Amino acid sequence: MTSRITDKPLQLHSNAPLTLEKNSVPAPPESQSFHWHGFTQMADFQNIVIERAEGCWLTTTSGKRLFDGVASLWCNVHGHRNPKMDAAIRTQLDRVSHVTTLGMSADITDQLAERLAEVTPGDLKHVFFSSDGSSAVEAALKMALQYWHLKNQTTPNSSPTSTTKTRYLALSSAYHGDTTGAVSLGGIKYFHQLFAPIVFTPVRGPLPCSYRLPDGVHSDNARDYYTNEIESLLKQHHAELAAVVMEPLVQGAAGMITHPTGLLARIRELCDQYNVLLIVDEVATGFGRTGRMFACDHEGVTPDILCMGKGITGGYLPMAATIARPAVFEAFLGKSSERKQFYHGHTFGGNPLAAAAAVASLDLFRDTNLTDTIDAKSQFLRECLAPIANHPHVGDMRGRGLMVGIELVADRESKTPFDSDQLIGRKVCERATELGAWIRPLGDVIVLMPPLVASNEELRFLAETVTQAIEEVLADID
Ligand code: PLP
Repeated sequence: MTSRITDKPLQLHSNAPLTLEKNSVPAPPESQSFHWHGFTQMADFQNIVIERAEGCWLTTTSGKRLFDGVASLWCNVHGHRNPKMDAAIRTQLDRVSHVTTLGMSADITDQLAERLAEVTPGDLKHVFFSSDGSSAVEAALKMALQYWHLKNQTTPNSSPTSTTKTRYLALSSAYHGDTTGAVSLGGIKYFHQLFAPIVFTPVRGPLPCSYRLPDGVHSDNARDYYTNEIESLLKQHHAELAAVVMEPLVQGAAGMITHPTGLLARIRELCDQYNVLLIVDEVATGFGRTGRMFACDHEGVTPDILCMGKGITGGYLPMAATIARPAVFEAFLGKSSERKQFYHGHTFGGNPLAAAAAVASLDLFRDTNLTDTIDAKSQFLRECLAPIANHPHVGDMRGRGLMVGIELVADRESKTPFDSDQLIGRKVCERATELGAWIRPLGDVIVLMPPLVASNEELRFLAETVTQAIEEVLADID
C-alpha cells in the first residue's frame, strides 16, 4: 500500500489558512510579531494574552474570564494553580531545579520513574525521559530500531545497522508530533505533505474511522475489516518492520477519529504473530483522559513501548517519557566495550521540577480517584450535548472519556464536509470564545478536552456555550 495522506484540512493548534487577496501581503502589528506562534497565520492573528489562571479558568490581561475548554492544549489535569501541585514544585525549587540524566539523576526523577512503572500497563518498566511528546516518539522510534539491531548483530560492537527491520507502520491521518521522525509517521496533508523531501516513508495503514466506513463495512464488522487491512500489510512487510506505531482508541489531531472497539487488542496480537514491536503513542490519551489511566487499559493491552507527554506533569511543565518492557530494555545491556547503550538523550529529560510536578500529579490521581470519575463526567457532558447532536449540521459526536469531537458537516445524510474555505470550525470556536469558553477546532471538528477536574456545572457551561456557538454560526450559513 502506498503512503496515504488525508487531504482533510485540519488545523491543530491554530486559526485556519488565510485566503489572501491577490498581491496583498498582510502583516501583523509589529508588537505582535516578536512571538511567532506555532500552527498560526501570524498576519491575521488575534492574540489572547493570559495573565493568570485558577482551576479550569483563564483570565486575560483585560480581565476576561475564559473556561479552558481544551485544557491548555490537552494537558491540564488537576486545574491551574492547584495548591498541591504548586507546593510540590516550590519545594523542589528549594532543592535542585535541574541536573542531567546522563550519568546521574535527581532523586525525584528516579522516584517518578518507579511511579510511572506502577501506573502504566502490564510489565512496562524502564522509563526514558524527554521534554515533549514529539521527542518521546522520536526516542521510541530509535529505541525500536536499535533493539532489532542489537538482537541481530553477530559481532559485538558492530556499528552499521545489522537488521532489515528499519521501517514503521503508521495509520492514515496519523499525528505523532512535529519533529522530523514524528512528521515522517504523520498523515495529515497540511501538516505533513510539505515536508516529504526530508522524511522517511512509513508503510501506511488504514484510518480506522467508525464514522465514515468504506462501502460494505458497518459498525458490526468494522473492527474485523481494519484488522484484516493491517494484517495484510504485516504479512507483506513484517521482515522490514521495526514497529507498528499508533494512537490507541482515538486519533486526536486527525479529528478525534475513534477506532472500533477491540481493534487495539487485535493489533497487539498481530504484532506478536508477525514479530513486530507495538509502539503506542499515549501523549494525548494518557493520564486519565479516556476514563482509564491509559487508553491501553480499556483493552488490556501492554505495548512494547509506550510514549507519554502532555498530562504527565498535570499539564504544568514540559516533560515526556518513553517506557519500555524488560524484553526491550534488556537487549541494550552489555559490557561498555560492546557499545550497546541507547544512543539518545535530551538535556532537559527528567528535569527535577517537572518530575516533582509529575509525582504530585500521580499523588493527586491516587488520593482523589480522579480516573474513576471520568466515565460519569463524560456521560454527563454528552447528556448536556445531546440536543446539539441532533442539529442538521452535526454529523458525528465521538471520542472517549473527556476527549470529545463534534464534526460539523454540510450535509448530515451524505456526511459531506463543508467547503474548508467557509472556516466553519474556526467561526464556531471564535464565537464560543466570545461567549466565555476557550476552544480550538481541528478543521470542522469542534474539540472539547476540559481539564479532568472540571465540575458538572463547568461541563454544563462548556456544553451550553458550544451549543449556542454552533447554533448561531450555522444559522448564518443556512
Ligand atoms: N503525539 C500525539 C498523539 C499528540 O497529540 C501530540 C500533540 O498534540 C504529540 C504526539 C506531540 O506532542 P508535543 O506537542 O508535546 O511535541
